[in-house]
Amino acid sequence: MNVLAVGCHPDDLEINCGGTLAKCARRGDKVTMVALANGSAGHKVYSKEEIARIRLKEATESAAVIGAEYICLGLDDMFVRRDYDEGVRKVSDVIRRVKPDFIITHGEHEYMVDHSITSTIVFDATMAATVSHYPSDYPEYDRFTPIYYMENTFMVNSFPEEFVDITDDIDTKIEMYSHHKSQAEWLKVHDNFDMVETIRCFARTRGLQCDTGYVEGFTLCKQIHHLPTKRYLP
Ligand SMILES: [Zn+2]
Repeated sequence: MNVLAVGCHPDDLEINCGGTLAKCARRGDKVTMVALANGSAGHKVYSKEEIARIRLKEATESAAVIGAEYICLGLDDMFVRRDYDEGVRKVSDVIRRVKPDFIITHGEHEYMVDHSITSTIVFDATMAATVSHYPSDYPEYDRFTPIYYMENTFMVNSFPEEFVDITDDIDTKIEMYSHHKSQAEWLKVHDNFDMVETIRCFARTRGLQCDTGYVEGFTLCKQIHHLPTKRYLP
């Protein structure tokens, strides 16, 4: 199976679907992890350019834990909406190149616009990737890709319908996240919480609901052409 996961910022995928991606890798899937934005707003000390460089390195190391490719599409933090068309073009190119069996991304009603817009960009890109005359250096992709939406950040107003048991992958998820040192530091200052504790806490909450150890939840995109007749999640 070929999995394409598209987050907004360099650490969003680890937080919301890192266990599932690790499980996909364990079952032999090819995993591609993409961030639309470069993480340039996420630090108090480093300059925009410095923090973007650091976060590229950290995210690449995190993806390497599960043998995944990491691609940063380089939009600026807080300006993903302004760069909407560029985002659709870039994600469409990735879809044309990677040819995913399914995609994981943010839901449409997230806590910040960059996240919500990423969801819409990815949805539009799945259409753009199939259109012959849409601008791209790659030939069009011949299918509409099923999309699974990750849970909203911190599970706020989040009602998942698909569940992945990540009990055997929670340590890998945390190992992946541990490479995002600069962001973990900044979140302690800016938001006053420990992300590793938070990751465990939310995955364990869904785990309790599912009568197992640790779980990540998802919602299927229910639009024409996108409805799968089988489950792609592990
Ligand atoms: Zn984010």
